[in-house]
Amino acid sequence: MDFDGVYTDPTEEGENCSRFFRNKILSLGLSEFNLDSEAKVDSWLGELRARQAASPFSYGWRSEGRVSAFTFEDPFIRNIGLADFLDHLVEEGNPRAKGILTRLKKTDKIGSFGKLSEWSFLQLKHAKRADPFAKKWVEETIRSGHEIVIVSNSATDKIEEFLEQNKFAPDARPKVRGGARKFGLGKSPRPLIIAKTPENGEIRIDTDRPFYEEALMELKPDAVVGDVFCLDLSLPIRLKREGKLNFKWGIFYRHRDYTPSAMVDLVTGRGTQVPEVTLLREWSQLTPSTTVSNSKPL
Ligand SMILES: [Mg+2]
Repeated sequence: MDFDGVYTDPTEEGENCSRFFRNKILSLGLSEFNLDSEAKVDSWLGELRARQAASPFSYGWRSEGRVSAFTFEDPFIRNIGLADFLDHLVEEGNPRAKGILTRLKKTDKIGSFGKLSEWSFLQLKHAKRADPFAKKWVEETIRSGHEIVIVSNSATDKIEEFLEQNKFAPDARPKVRGGARKFGLGKSPRPLIIAKTPENGEIRIDTDRPFYEEALMELKPDAVVGDVFCLDLSLPIRLKREGKLNFKWGIFYRHRDYTPSAMVDLVTGRGTQVPEVTLLREWSQLTPSTTVSNSKPL
């Protein structure tokens, strides 16, 4: 299981990240770039998001210079992806984007928008709250004799602390494998084609994720659950196709309010290129005896 977005709803954390990001830009008081009020900064960032939405698969969380997860996939990657787009604008010579960075380097030694988004993420202080349905499902499943392992990019101690604070019963606590670097790409893309659309052409996702692959091959799970298709599910699909793992319960795409409907359509709609994936709207869909899966034999 993934952690953020599966055990929690990160919407509020993502919004707070956006606010820290916006407020830092606002604090520079850049009147020469017409960015010296909340309304002006918001309107500019809003315009950038709209421009970005026109090419949703071009920006996001990068690794090895390539996009590892698309910008709109979860509330955190939304910020990381906006920063990616801003760094792209700097390279293009956009005066406002360049102006902000020049000032940020002076005032805060922040040298890229990517760094500003990392900084914004680090400002998050609030304790995470467990999704009660996820918690109930996890506890019941462990008590019925199954093993659950959280494989997450977040640090192990943070997740352990979360399990403690949210009172996961000691006899029904998942194991934790944090710092999993699922976003970390290797040298070769090993692309998974998820769609061929007239608007976006062929949409490919890099599945060469050596750190995540090592974890999966060691754990050999019967099921995988994640809310970010690129990070959590693209590699399991490849491993299943290669016959390395069979995921006999299934590969589950956790649906949340922020899950992009375009992505849901692409991966679970008619004509999907990835029939291995099941959309998980309710935890009741995922029980050992009544596992719902639309997986078709290949
Ligand atoms: Mg997640």
